[in-house]
Amino acid sequence: MKAAVCRAFGQPLVIEEIDLAAPRHGEIRVRLAACAICHSDIIYAAGGWGGTLPAVYGHEASGIVEEVGGGVTHVQPGDHVVVTLIRSCGHCIECTRGSQVLCEAVFPLDERSPITARATGETLVHGLRTGAFAEAVVVDASQAVAIPQDVPLDVAALIACGVLTGLGAVTNTAGVRAGEAVVVIGTGGVGLNSVQGAALVGASPIVALDLSPDKRAAAVRFGATHAFDPRDADVAAHIKAANNGRLADWVFVTVGAKAAFDQANGLMKRGGGVVVVGMPASGVMGAYDPGWLASDGQKILGSKMGSARIRIDVPRIVDLYRQGRLKLDELITGRYRLEEINEAIASVVRGEALRNVIVF
Ligand SMILES: [Zn+2]
Ligand SMILES: [Zn+2]
Repeated sequence: MKAAVCRAFGQPLVIEEIDLAAPRHGEIRVRLAACAICHSDIIYAAGGWGGTLPAVYGHEASGIVEEVGGGVTHVQPGDHVVVTLIRSCGHCIECTRGSQVLCEAVFPLDERSPITARATGETLVHGLRTGAFAEAVVVDASQAVAIPQDVPLDVAALIACGVLTGLGAVTNTAGVRAGEAVVVIGTGGVGLNSVQGAALVGASPIVALDLSPDKRAAAVRFGATHAFDPRDADVAAHIKAANNGRLADWVFVTVGAKAAFDQANGLMKRGGGVVVVGMPASGVMGAYDPGWLASDGQKILGSKMGSARIRIDVPRIVDLYRQGRLKLDELITGRYRLEEINEAIASVVRGEALRNVIVF
């Protein structure tokens, strides 16, 4: 089977034949239908987070279960599934308190990649615990959730990371309530889901900040009540004007840029919070004044993968989509074959795409 392999950071991915080990106990093999390109894949492939090469990245995927290992009961061959990078044991202290994204267990797949290069037999890194820039994956069964067969699989792939992350930051991590004022910095494939999550829970106003006029326009289509260029010197004044003289209850930073983190601290009201959703490259540092944070009773929260509990969140997202209350089709900018993956990535890097999806 084919995969797009990263052999050198910053260089185009290489389409190669690979082999996958059979799923072992607790693991499944999924024939992929689609894998969207997330900024995390791009940062890895550019070398921004280091790591070992060669590697197969890709983690925002969907497909059909082909084979299950022993002990797997919640999915079976033929099931349509969303495949995520969230691997959880279900019984460690973090899983027990509902933080599956922070699971403490070490899995066999953490210690041996199932992917080998057919030509040389060398082991390829199972990137982002998934290796989904490939026609099939072997993952831990906990990473997959079955979905109804009438949900298009290219749309379903988006749920695995961008939708879970953006929506979950609002509904799970922050627990935004009706009437609270929300600012979303960065309205690409993740931020638009924070915008539509804020709209779903009744936040008001919902202010989108993005450098791109196209992405600001998209944010308004997804439920933003206001949209501004973050370079506008009067952004804080605009937010106050929209919110009865106050800054935001919640500021979601969905991009990894230092400028965005720095700006966010100045946009939350007394008692408000900043939620860090986007992942910067290693070494990006932010600054805040702790005295000011204490005296204004503010908070800064990290949101890993939208604090998702995938067996709760994925079916909820699917239901909202099927009711027409959540836009997913509109998130897809382009569909590409695996052989075209470097073009798909380049278009994301140029800021042209909400989500580009590889379809198999
Ligand atoms: Zn991702
Ligand atoms: Zn666990």
